[in-house]
Amino acid sequence: MYLDYNASCPLHPEVAEEVCRAIREDFGNPSSVHAYGQRAKAALDHARAAIADLLGAAPADVVFTAGGTESDNFAIRGAAEALAPAGRRHLVASRIEHEAVLNTMKALGRRGWSVDLVPPTADGVIEPDRLRAAIRDDTALVSVMHANNETGVIQPIAELAALCHERGALVHTDAVQSAGKVPVDVGVLGVDLLSISAHKFGGPKGVGALWMRPGSRLVPLLTGGRQERTRRAGTENVPGIVGLGAAARIVLDKLESEARRLTEMRDRMEGAIIAAVPGSVVNGGKAPRVPNTSNIAFDGVEAESLLIALDLEGIAVSTGSACSSGTVDPSHVLMAMGLPPERVQGSIRFSLGAGTTGQEIDRLLEVLPQLVARLRTVGRR
Ligand code: PLP
Repeated sequence: MYLDYNASCPLHPEVAEEVCRAIREDFGNPSSVHAYGQRAKAALDHARAAIADLLGAAPADVVFTAGGTESDNFAIRGAAEALAPAGRRHLVASRIEHEAVLNTMKALGRRGWSVDLVPPTADGVIEPDRLRAAIRDDTALVSVMHANNETGVIQPIAELAALCHERGALVHTDAVQSAGKVPVDVGVLGVDLLSISAHKFGGPKGVGALWMRPGSRLVPLLTGGRQERTRRAGTENVPGIVGLGAAARIVLDKLESEARRLTEMRDRMEGAIIAAVPGSVVNGGKAPRVPNTSNIAFDGVEAESLLIALDLEGIAVSTGSACSSGTVDPSHVLMAMGLPPERVQGSIRFSLGAGTTGQEIDRLLEVLPQLVARLRTVGRR
């Protein structure tokens, strides 16, 4: 039973078909003038239109990348480099960003940019007042994610973007965990740059896109040919991009009904867990969240042990912690929310998706309370 959709999703069968077809048939180089090239170019155009539809954007403003990490890097490094000559060398992000943003900010910090990180509230929300206090006259770019990958908490991006613009700063949002789950409309959000990644909504890995407000000038990460209107050099990953576009069409078509179905299932799951497991609490539970994500802390339990116990039952979940060189670092997101270390260490992320069924949730509810009880007894010995 796969409950780790925020890490990655299974490829949608129709997407797999499209990708295979593109590998076989759309093999021309999209920059070639002949019919084979034009066929591949048409496949890119078709996918670009699908991403534009998903984001309420114009196709010309969508740049294909090699995934969420590259889109985030392009937005942040590209804007930082472009605005530095004008004296804007200050960058702002939230403390709960994905490493793709946080480590990019750190890298720029080491190269002379000054960086400020804004803490969230205990519910995982970036409050406008806290962000306002961090912005300076020389702020080049502010990056705040649309939905958090660990808690699912949705940020008030439109409000945050407006206050950044008052000070002349560009605004980037990492919408990797919201695209395909809730409406993501660049006009409504009011941002300048927005990142998405195919494998978080049923597309293949290693492909994504950055939406750029028309007129934004970013210094490209890659230099070379003139692909993507000189914004991203290199022969395009045609099959991957075809998969991205196909996945976007499918999720957009079912956005409302899937959101309803997953919200109902997630809420039922949370309610039942809280009722059956004493000392359990939903992290970020009071904030608006994407429909599929639930981050639950279990008192007196090591999350890693619970993850392994669930895995032995055939249930895949995750913790927000990262394993680096044999040690387990606690989740930087939950720590930034100011949760006590024991609660952070005992937190598990359940993330549902297109293939999740009510029967699977029933099975989870059957085994989870016993596993928690068993681990607590072992812990007390
Ligand atoms: N941003 C967020 C919020 C994510 O959850 C992820 C993936 O975990 C990424 C960026 C990176 O995306 P990709 O795996 O496509 O590089």
